[in-house]
Amino acid sequence: MTNHDAQTNRDALTNRNVLISGASIAGPALAYWLHRHGFNPTIVERAPALREGGYAVDFRGEAHLSILRRMGILDDLERARTGMGSMSYVNSAGKPVADMPADLFAGDLEVLRGDLARILYDATKEHTEYVFGDSITSLTEDPDGVTVTFERSAPRRFDLVIGADGLHSNTRRLAFGPEERFVKHLGVHCAIFTTANHLGLDHTGHAYRTAGRLVAMYSARHNTEAKAVFYFASPKQDLDRRDVARQQAALTECFTGNGWQSERLLDDMRHAPDFYFDSVGQVHMDSWTRGRVALIGDAAYCPSSLSGMGSGLALVGAYVLAGELAAAHGDHGVAFARYEEEMREYATGCQKMGDGVAKLMVPRTRALATFLNGYYKLIPYLPGKNMAAKIARKTAENIKLRDYEALIGA
Ligand SMILES: Cc1cc2nc3c(=O)[nH]c(=O)nc-3n(C[C@H](O)[C@H](O)[C@H](O)COP(=O)(O)OP(=O)(O)OC[C@H]3O[C@@H](n4cnc5c(N)ncnc54)[C@H](O)[C@@H]3O)c2cc1C
Repeated sequence: MTNHDAQTNRDALTNRNVLISGASIAGPALAYWLHRHGFNPTIVERAPALREGGYAVDFRGEAHLSILRRMGILDDLERARTGMGSMSYVNSAGKPVADMPADLFAGDLEVLRGDLARILYDATKEHTEYVFGDSITSLTEDPDGVTVTFERSAPRRFDLVIGADGLHSNTRRLAFGPEERFVKHLGVHCAIFTTANHLGLDHTGHAYRTAGRLVAMYSARHNTEAKAVFYFASPKQDLDRRDVARQQAALTECFTGNGWQSERLLDDMRHAPDFYFDSVGQVHMDSWTRGRVALIGDAAYCPSSLSGMGSGLALVGAYVLAGELAAAHGDHGVAFARYEEEMREYATGCQKMGDGVAKLMVPRTRALATFLNGYYKLIPYLPGKNMAAKIARKTAENIKLRDYEALIGA
């Protein structure tokens, strides 16, 4: 494509002003591609600043890596790679009872979610208007655009609004209906935060499993710190997602007397800089678009934080949605229909990776926990030991990405 062709295509674009809700993974990735195709993205994020927390996320297969390469951030991510080795399940005395080699489950590139969010933010901040500490309160659509009101800022007009605001999406609630219609709770809650690497773990993790509970510690940032992770089985709890004190009280109640490092990590939790707590769930919707509003990432098709697919799926969704908008010269009717078509089978496959994992990771009974510990001990010696990794890679690659820049040029 010549510079002149590119300019002509940009001039022909409609619906250029796009508001995105959510500045984590899907939102900034979408902003990156929208800007590259000639749109003007604005991101509104409820948190007062970029949220740094979270455990490691995986990218696997050529679909994920090719998008990161085209975005020019693969080298930065390689530098931020966790380099994690095997992980051990331990007994109450901290003695490893089963080792899980890294290649059983790890993707091609594993980075801390916070590092990924920072790298995406750095890659987009010059060309994207970021509004932190605010949230959409209403969306009123007419034939020419959407009038958006906010908790703090004055109302504004946008051509399109995209919800990239996660499992509990505000945009989804405003445009499609209440959360209960779309979110399937998988029976587990999780908490993750940064703590001192007081066990001296060297690129590894220790996990301790009891009936309905799992507590783990993994070294991070080349052993200079660690991530503490708690999972517990429970029906959906009515905990305000912003009420950290109540969330920590629920964890304390659940893990007091649980053994191993539970008490020490509960103490550390109270001073953690980046405490993250959520229910584990999936989002199922018949359609991800309505009028001038569309959803991407966890807001649209969350596969669950146990699937190992959430960030890759969000990345692919952002690439496809921006590309289809560009290919349709901004015609959202055409682009949104193509986005649904391109993404549906892929998202369904990624969601299947999350099915059933919750019950295996946090077994409800002591007998099942003991059985699984024994079984995991054998996995490295079983003939199908790489099966999980192979299935995950195949799922992550199950999409033929269109080269939108070449397409638009043609
Ligand atoms: C702090 C944090 C830690 C996480 N830790 C893990 C982890 O350890 N393991 C894991 O598998 N997954 C984790 N996740 C989820 C993971 O990032 C996603 O599953 C995946 O990367 C898809 O990203 P997403 O951008 O679609 O959604 P998310 O990463 O959930 O991002 C949604 C964004 O929208 C923002 N938001 C929410 N409501 C509003 C609103 N009303 N207005 C504006 N913005 C809003 C949120 O603050 C967040 O920045 C974490 C998410 C966050 C925000």
